[in-house]
Amino acid sequence: MEEALALPGNPSSVHAEGRAALHLIEHAREDVARLVGARPADVIFTSSGTEANMLALSPAIEIAVEKKPRDKLLISAIEHSSVRAGGRFAREAIADIAVDADGRVSLAALADALSRTSRPLVSIMLANNETGVVQPVAEAAALVHAANGLLHVDAVQAAGRIACDVTSLGADLLTLSAHKIGGPKGTGALIRANEAIHFADPLIRGGGQERGMRAGTENVAGIAAFAAAAAAAHRQLADEAAHMLALRTELEAGLRAITPQVVIFGAGAARLPNTTLFALEGVKAETAIIALDLEGIAVSSGAACSSGKVQPSHVLAAMGVSAPLARGALRVSLGWITTEADVERFLNAWRKVAGALSKCSKEQRGVAA
Ligand code: PLP
Repeated sequence: MEEALALPGNPSSVHAEGRAALHLIEHAREDVARLVGARPADVIFTSSGTEANMLALSPAIEIAVEKKPRDKLLISAIEHSSVRAGGRFAREAIADIAVDADGRVSLAALADALSRTSRPLVSIMLANNETGVVQPVAEAAALVHAANGLLHVDAVQAAGRIACDVTSLGADLLTLSAHKIGGPKGTGALIRANEAIHFADPLIRGGGQERGMRAGTENVAGIAAFAAAAAAAHRQLADEAAHMLALRTELEAGLRAITPQVVIFGAGAARLPNTTLFALEGVKAETAIIALDLEGIAVSSGAACSSGKVQPSHVLAAMGVSAPLARGALRVSLGWITTEADVERFLNAWRKVAGALSKCSKEQRGVAA
């Protein structure tokens, strides 16, 4: 990133300074492509995962041979808000696909929804950002393609944590975000499975950057750093996944030992190795987050928290979790720098916080009774 910031040229300029910036971007394209098994020419850099999702979700996505708009957008009930917003589809053209109690997309519900479309675009995330539950994307892709559909996969949370190969997933389009793999915030990418996929209606038009698919002078430093993170994630994937899974197993065993009534969401399904989402009946997430913050531990609520205001989680609601329990959902994410000592420190803090908060909640219920 520092190297890129020192380059004065605009990658669209033909002089040597411009060509140096362009070289950095094209090198970055190779690193990002390698992380997902794509061709560099099929990587389109964007300002974020959100923008990549917006670019992907358009009725005007075409495949070379058939140039007719997509008639429906089918999205799983647990997608990130940037997918749930529906991109450029009209509200009435969007339908939900249900998930099971573990938060896994129901393939039966998908097949049923597909039977009522003729040219659908389907969006299913590779792993959920609240529960970490990994979705049956390859199986879904087979159903989608048999129904003349295209599949977009939001792999923002999954990339760098589990294998994420465009071809084996059967994805036609795939979204990445740099800051989820250790890169800077404000950089993302949309990956096409092949050049036959065409954006008849790019989200941002203007100069011909990104082969006309995304106009605007590229964020050279952001892209260079995204690529460095992608290369590191690709190189260290197996080791980091094993490291995080060992720590997460220890963390969840500790949670269950300290608070046997704890509910760990999606525990029956395959999950990302770094994520755990849990709740303790009677303990509100906002209160626990503040108490843990005072102990120097940063966790998030499972609920979408866009403007600092905690809203009920649509993911837990779709899984059939009761509203009072969902209000207590806490998400702990581990990273490649998390150590066993960190897990121990978290468990000590949890013992203190859960003890104090459950006592307080029982007393309040006693008073109310
Ligand atoms: N998709 C998922 C699953 C996410 O978790 C996020 C961010 O948290 C996004 C998309 C949006 O990515 P960005 O923050 O780069 O806009």
